[in-house]
Amino acid sequence: MRCCARDLAATAAHAAHGLADGDARRQAVGQGTRRRGDRVTRREFSSVFRQVSRELDLSDIALEMEQLWARSIRHLDKGQVVEWGATIVLTKDKHLRLVGIAEGNAESVTPELEIDEGEEFIGTFHTHPYEDGTTGMAFSGIDIAGAINNSEKISVVQSGRDIFALVRTEGTPVGVDPQRLDQELNTAYRGYVEMGLADQEALLAANLDACEKYRLAFYWGTVPQRLLEVYKP
Ligand SMILES: [Zn+2]
Repeated sequence: MRCCARDLAATAAHAAHGLADGDARRQAVGQGTRRRGDRVTRREFSSVFRQVSRELDLSDIALEMEQLWARSIRHLDKGQVVEWGATIVLTKDKHLRLVGIAEGNAESVTPELEIDEGEEFIGTFHTHPYEDGTTGMAFSGIDIAGAINNSEKISVVQSGRDIFALVRTEGTPVGVDPQRLDQELNTAYRGYVEMGLADQEALLAANLDACEKYRLAFYWGTVPQRLLEVYKP
């Protein structure tokens, strides 16, 4: 069920650009919920891939994110996990900072909003731990809807070594129906699982479908590297 970082990266690239290759399973990802017209040729793909040099630098908050991840799984040996979250702000001297750090439960967390004068709201961070030790799980539908409805510029999730980020674009809607988005994402996720994708890959592919529909950019990286843009609407 687990998959490695390379698999996730490949899935991200394939799912984002709908590229078909010799692997039927990968083709299935590309064809999943995508229209034929969205598919790109191999040549176009390589030019897209070269453009995937856009990075998201979260180094200001990387250590704190890592600490909150560690806290999330500190009782994993007893089969207990807890999500931790925080609000991301931009300080006056243009550094990212985590504020309003909050402990949630095994399934969710609500970061507290506490922005000082002169600081700018950027978005939220939270962790995705699982009782069975699963990692590499990207956003839920409720997470994505929350990021859109709360006007987050950047929304970040850490699940083990993997860090995922949604970045708002000019085309991102102002508001969405959380239940509807959650349902869409869960349907897509189950579809990808039925196609034989690992849980992580299936959720990532479903995330990218949502990013396409709601015009969000998607970044992905592994600790301690920078995040790379793997999808841009
Ligand atoms: Zn979440």
